[in-house]
Amino acid sequence: MRSFFDSDILKKLVENELDSSLDKLTPEQKIEACAQQIIKALGLNKDSEELLETPFRIAKMYYKELFSSINKEPDVKLTSFKSNYEHYITMTGIPYYSVCSHHFMPFFGTVDIAYFPKNEDSKVLGLSKFPRLVKFFSRKPQVQEDFTQELAKYIYEQLKPEGVLIRVTGYHTCVASRGAEVEAKVTTEAMLGNIDKNEVLHLWKA
Ligand SMILES: [Zn+2]
Repeated sequence: MRSFFDSDILKKLVENELDSSLDKLTPEQKIEACAQQIIKALGLNKDSEELLETPFRIAKMYYKELFSSINKEPDVKLTSFKSNYEHYITMTGIPYYSVCSHHFMPFFGTVDIAYFPKNEDSKVLGLSKFPRLVKFFSRKPQVQEDFTQELAKYIYEQLKPEGVLIRVTGYHTCVASRGAEVEAKVTTEAMLGNIDKNEVLHLWKA
């Protein structure tokens, strides 16, 4: 593991000293205190007007907004209903914003969904639920591959369709603004059950 510390000094520091001194604080308070430390470590003037409330803003943004789905189940009520529709249901271009777990930098793009309801036990989801599901699963630090998989798995388990295909495209600000410094589009896919991928790709193109 790469670290600016020798051996396990960091682990000791965080687990013994930092954790115990922050023990009684709420998660938001802990993040605020650490953000304050980042500002100090960078040599910035924490008392300057524009930085004064930055630790508070960071804590609120992480805990209540960008990372609000950590350790939670979707609060989206899946009011699925029975249907005799026997074809693909697709929704494309659903926008999302997430954060990469490697650098804690945003990545964003669109999600395309296609599923095929099963004959007898057909369950269909109200279309407005998909953007809400996408939003829910985007709100945590993660890699794009896991975001794609989790979304596919959830839809597959909840709707029990014949099959589901998810495609996610992402622009990663950690790649564009540092490191390789290229604005490459990353595409990931997850497929569960039986799906005629060619047919779906054809529908998506139309
Ligand atoms: Zn990254």
